[in-house]
Amino acid sequence: MAKLDMDGPLKLEEKVILKEVIQPMPGSFALGHLAANRSFEVLYVSYSETTVQEALLTCLKKRIGQGGFMDKLTGKNKINAFKYSYANSVEACFHKTCKNFHDFGGLKVLNNKEHPRPPKKSDWICSRCTEELTASFKVKAG
Ligand SMILES: [Zn+2]
Repeated sequence: MAKLDMDGPLKLEEKVILKEVIQPMPGSFALGHLAANRSFEVLYVSYSETTVQEALLTCLKKRIGQGGFMDKLTGKNKINAFKYSYANSVEACFHKTCKNFHDFGGLKVLNNKEHPRPPKKSDWICSRCTEELTASFKVKAG
């Protein structure tokens, strides 16, 4: 089973974010659906270069991560909760978010429209993408 390694889940509401996510630190977060039995389905992963609180409030306001029209038709669950973790460096956030992105199904399963991007002016590369490239190269070569 894939693990997020984050705190939560908490309800995705402004008052909850303002009360609970108060450290002025960068971090990773996941948005998802919290079912009545407390199971959390990951639907979107991202990270914040500034503070987790700010990023979560932006997601809430702009409905970032919510499914589109087709998801409504197919009855896909809606985002109503989040999990988060702080990090000491933005680079750590980026790599953790990439790992979660792959562990939880990538573009096929998540509402993410693209692979997590490194911050501007950085040249960090997702190690999982590199591994997959190497693996498929080996298959072809062997
Ligand atoms: Zn990747």
